[in-house]
Amino acid sequence: KNPNVAGKTFNIGTDVTFPPFEFANNSNEYVGIDMDLMRAIAKNQGFKVQIKPLGFNAAVQALESGQIDGTIAGMSITDERKQKFDFSDPYFQSGVVMAVAKESSVKSLSQLKGKKVAVKTGTAGADYANSIKDKYGFKTVTFDDSNNMYQDVVTGNSVACFEDSPVMQYGIKQGTKLKIVTDPAEKGDYGFAVKKGVNQDLLAAFNAGLKNLKANGEYNKITSKYLGSKQ
Ligand code: GLN
Repeated sequence: KNPNVAGKTFNIGTDVTFPPFEFANNSNEYVGIDMDLMRAIAKNQGFKVQIKPLGFNAAVQALESGQIDGTIAGMSITDERKQKFDFSDPYFQSGVVMAVAKESSVKSLSQLKGKKVAVKTGTAGADYANSIKDKYGFKTVTFDDSNNMYQDVVTGNSVACFEDSPVMQYGIKQGTKLKIVTDPAEKGDYGFAVKKGVNQDLLAAFNAGLKNLKANGEYNKITSKYLGSKQ
């Protein structure tokens, strides 16, 4: 147990639906790699968590304004975000891929000219799309959650979307009618975040717990539970 956090309860923001990292199961409990990891770390360090599924952008905003203590939401560690947040040690590798409808003939960015592309508010995928949209001549349509973004592509309103590779791969395996057509761009890591300079004990406890879980095999157990043993 960690004396700096033992017995305390922290409010932790997360996304509404970002499987395999966070999603509501059939019993309407939040599960997934982030959720299991957060709870296992809390147990390891002796603190408690209240999970708040606010949606990605809302969770980031709530953290910035100090309404919650931490955010774990498949949140990419970026230099820009480091101005406002302190991140834990990285806990999962990710990157941004482009996905299109199963039957689509679109294979590359150059085929997006004059088309609409769906992105998710406040995400690394949206930033990436916005950084290349003038070059490739497409327009973006924004959604607050991943499911609505996928649906816009499935129905054909948008021709493509940009999503994190592990999330898109998992979704497709689970039946989302999309396919991935590009290699991951903007490769980086997910981290747990606190507001810059605030909740440093919680951040240190997260890192200590993560280290313990990696050493005792629990981290691997959690990721394999959702992704299978081969990754
Ligand atoms: N990894 C992406 C980001 O940090 C997307 C996170 C998410 O949609 N939950 O911006």
